[in-house]
Amino acid sequence: MTPAPPWLAGETAALAAAHGSGRLPHALLIHEAPGAGGEWLATWAAQLVLCREGTAAPCQTCPACRRVAAFQHPDVAWVRPLEDSRQIRIEQVRDLSAGLALTSHAGGYKVGVLSPADALNRFAANALLKTLEEPPARTLLVLVATQPSRLPPTVLSRCQRLRVRAPARAVGVAWLAAARGPANWEAALAAIGEAPLLAAEADPATLAEVGADSRRTLDALAAGSTDPVAAAERWARSDLPLRLLCFENWLTERIRRGEREGAFLTEMRAGPYLSSGGAFLNIRELFGLVDEVRDLRAALDVPLNRGLALEALFRRLAPAGRALRGVQG
Ligand SMILES: [Zn+2]
Repeated sequence: MTPAPPWLAGETAALAAAHGSGRLPHALLIHEAPGAGGEWLATWAAQLVLCREGTAAPCQTCPACRRVAAFQHPDVAWVRPLEDSRQIRIEQVRDLSAGLALTSHAGGYKVGVLSPADALNRFAANALLKTLEEPPARTLLVLVATQPSRLPPTVLSRCQRLRVRAPARAVGVAWLAAARGPANWEAALAAIGEAPLLAAEADPATLAEVGADSRRTLDALAAGSTDPVAAAERWARSDLPLRLLCFENWLTERIRRGEREGAFLTEMRAGPYLSSGGAFLNIRELFGLVDEVRDLRAALDVPLNRGLALEALFRRLAPAGRALRGVQG
């Protein structure tokens, strides 16, 4: 198990205290910033209830804790979207509920983790509701989601919510150095944003290199100095998932910068485009692009023409595309 992310200390302390006093809820919703450690916390919570070391739980070293961390504990079920689908389906939830109703192997808790829970489709969410309403004794359900608003309110209202926020850059960098050893983690996080748990799974040099290259492409597209078709083809050929993360981060940075400078306030008064730094996308368009980049990232395993989808997004960044919309709008 990787070292505990220090920015989750408040959440782990609260869970340990609740468990110690017999008040652990039977369902948790971990609302995480992407890559900030939602699944780490879900794993920790499973260890908390399954560790054999009593007051020291979770010790991280007993066989139960190690099996949980290795996804091999018989009393923990992980439910994820099936490989050929972006959704968690009703059959998967029915299997989970059936499993939770059985006696536990170790004579204690049974745990179900759904991640990402915002991938539950409507039927699956309804099926889960039954288990949330009448959970078997000593059951812990953990839902990990970056966009919990996609879940029905009936599901949300039956879970206790834990918020996992992204750590400050320096905190993320220090944790990565402890978890993975020295590297240019600063540049790695600059590429993908404050997502240290994602960075920990990647090669830091690749992150930094692809991040810098992707940023150059996006800046050039926004300045109208590079061809969207050629850029899209190049991205589709190599490191596309990582480049889309960089794209999302690049857009998010622009939204933050606009908010800091009050540019969006000016925009709301004065017209559809930012007044500072030349005409650029307005905040609604930026958020729209973030959503579309996320959709494309989630759909990467679905056969589609990635180059074309990407090219359409790139065209919207380019000054010509922005001017066109200005005329239409
Ligand atoms: Zn343990």
